[in-house]
Parts: sequence; structure tokens; C-alpha cells
Amino acid sequence: MTAGRLNDDGGPDVLTLTSVLDGRAHKVTDSELCAPHSMRTGRYAALCGHLVAPAPLVEAAGVPCGRCVQLDPTPPAEEATRRPGRRRGWGLRRMLPA
Ligand SMILES: [Zn+2]
Repeated sequence: MTAGRLNDDGGPDVLTLTSVLDGRAHKVTDSELCAPHSMRTGRYAALCGHLVAPAPLVEAAGVPCGRCVQLDPTPPAEEATRRPGRRRGWGLRRMLPA
């Protein structure tokens, strides 16, 4: 499994799993990982509702699932390049006349 623990101190544990179905890195809670139905099926319900079939470790991590990122209750870990302010800047620039 390509699981990366995002936070070790309190709060819900959210792991990132890359799905072989859509190649995206979804976020799955720790409790979902340990749920009996997940153990049985090998599929994990991501925060966005996607059922993740975890990619083997040899696969590179997929593109982060935008919906999962939005729904993630934990603070983002070292993703300084993905700040919302940056996107707003792009929007402003597109509104300006050329
Ligand atoms: Zn997702």
C-alpha cells in the first residue's frame, strides 16, 4: 500500500492511498482502513466517496484527488505550492483585459 501518515498528534488519522482505478491519490481515514468491510473487500472508501483499490508500492503516487483534499479534516502537510491564494491570483489575471 502507498500509505503516508499525515499527522501523528491527535485528530483523525487520514492516509493517502493511490487508487489503481483512476490513478489518483485519495484520502482515507484510519478507521475506514480498519473497518471489517474494507478488510474483506480490499477496497477503502475515500473521503470523496471513491472506492480505492490501493496501487502497489512500486507505483508512483498519483495526482491528489481534489475532492479529497477539500474534505480532508487535517491541515495540509507541506503543500506550500498548493495555496488557495495562488489560484485566486490566476483568476484575477484572467479577468483583466489583455
Ligand atoms: Zn478522492
